[in-house]
Amino acid sequence: MLVEILGTAAGGGFPQWNCTCNNCRSVRLGKFAGKARSHLQVAISPDGIIWYLLNASPDLRSQIEGSFFLHPKGPGRSSPIHGIGLTSADLDQSLGVLLLREWQPLQIYATQSIRKILREDNNMFAMLERAADQAHWKNFLPGSTFELVAPNGKRSGIECTPVTVSTRYPGYVAAHRAKELVSEEAVVGLFIQSPSGKRLGYFPAVGHVNETLLQQFDSVDVLLFDGTFWTDDELIKLQSSGQTALQMGHIPVSSPGGSLDLLSKLKRPRKMFVHINNTNPMLDESGPEYAQVRAHGWEIAEDGCHLEL
Ligand SMILES: [Zn+2]
Repeated sequence: MLVEILGTAAGGGFPQWNCTCNNCRSVRLGKFAGKARSHLQVAISPDGIIWYLLNASPDLRSQIEGSFFLHPKGPGRSSPIHGIGLTSADLDQSLGVLLLREWQPLQIYATQSIRKILREDNNMFAMLERAADQAHWKNFLPGSTFELVAPNGKRSGIECTPVTVSTRYPGYVAAHRAKELVSEEAVVGLFIQSPSGKRLGYFPAVGHVNETLLQQFDSVDVLLFDGTFWTDDELIKLQSSGQTALQMGHIPVSSPGGSLDLLSKLKRPRKMFVHINNTNPMLDESGPEYAQVRAHGWEIAEDGCHLEL
């Protein structure tokens, strides 16, 4: 299985359009010891011909254009992208679905609750279903393994097992609506098994980790994990108000009980942070936070990373 990491930033990208934090200012001044990043986007393929997207970022159009393997081939309109697996209804991970509305046959895999929020509560998503052979939503359940299958029925041999990692719905979902939905279907991570038998963990937003999940992490070859915030109070310090990382459904990297601590005993996986917020000081490769992450055996994924599993 080929794994292409096309973007690695959390919501807003890096730099973020309205942000003057140290990181964003330094990038604009050309003085940053690190890389700018587009919104998190991963594409996977069993053969380099048929591709599936893990979520769909607001930067998807430029990410597709910048990736020759995702360019259309053959006569007329024919994308190698055959489907999307959605792990949440967060805007930075689902807005890109709307960018794929040009009559392309697609399978969209999501929990029933994520589908309800996007498809039933947001009429714009009807643009994906103007024809019978356009987008088809496929429900999955946390804990139940499913195979990625192309709209023409061609099997990929790639199997996904979703796991609940947060019960928090996006801020745009009204409280009364969230109560109608299944809380375990709010945010999932995916264990993805390649036809080769190797395993990828895709966990870009993780609100809690229990002992079972920790053991499951040690069964993967590569773990792409939530690197959104360095500390729990990162945004509050910056803007003097707002929510903590944990309240937003993200375990911070550094704090006591943070991911460096929690996942320190993992032996098997190559560990890479993704979904990194522009405020996170570990983006600065000249700083102590970056050194600390590297010393703990983690990598900070960059746009353009390529893996084979
Ligand atoms: Zn910033």
